[in-house]
Amino acid sequence: MKLLIMGPPGAGKGTQAEVLVKELAITHISTGDMFRAAIKEGTEMGKKAKEYMDKGELVPDAVVVGMVKDRLSQPDCAKGFLLDGFPRTLAQAEALDETLDSMGIVLDGVINIAVPRDKLMARLTGRRVCRGCGASYHVLFNPPQVEGKCNSCGGELYQRSDDNEEAVANRLDVYEAQTQPLIDYYAAKGLLKNINGDQDIKQVLADILASLKK
Ligand SMILES: [Zn+2]
Repeated sequence: MKLLIMGPPGAGKGTQAEVLVKELAITHISTGDMFRAAIKEGTEMGKKAKEYMDKGELVPDAVVVGMVKDRLSQPDCAKGFLLDGFPRTLAQAEALDETLDSMGIVLDGVINIAVPRDKLMARLTGRRVCRGCGASYHVLFNPPQVEGKCNSCGGELYQRSDDNEEAVANRLDVYEAQTQPLIDYYAAKGLLKNINGDQDIKQVLADILASLKK
């Protein structure tokens, strides 16, 4: 199986990617990890990427696609792969398609984990951090024993500024604006598998596997 996975922040994409690659015995390619590895190993594309990053600039699509190509050429991808974190824009998707074509690789599906916006807001704004020891809590999923107080040091819990409603809403807006054209693109190709991510983890996985058999 040669797959892509996408989903908004808070949709549980990372968790699903981990269980899915085990279930299907395919290679997980997270672009974040791939970047770090290419830079550490000093590959040609890794060196190029580092030049931009050192200057504080965005790494151009051509370099990112080059890194993905290098990675997909490695033997562990022959049995199948799950590409996670890329593409993020329509231009990247088109560049990826050209690369896959040139390598004779045909995608089997694009998994899109969808969660209603109000649920994402609740998940993403619920984090609380201890001022004393830095321990992390979640008002829904991992609440402290006493509201507003850290279990281990009794410190005050606070909400980081990037977790407040406005920041989270903005992050979701940016994601939606960037990703909707991608969703349309893969839907038009008949590759899109829309998955309800507002269910327990096992059910989400079951739905993904069922969608891949169709
Ligand atoms: Zn604490």
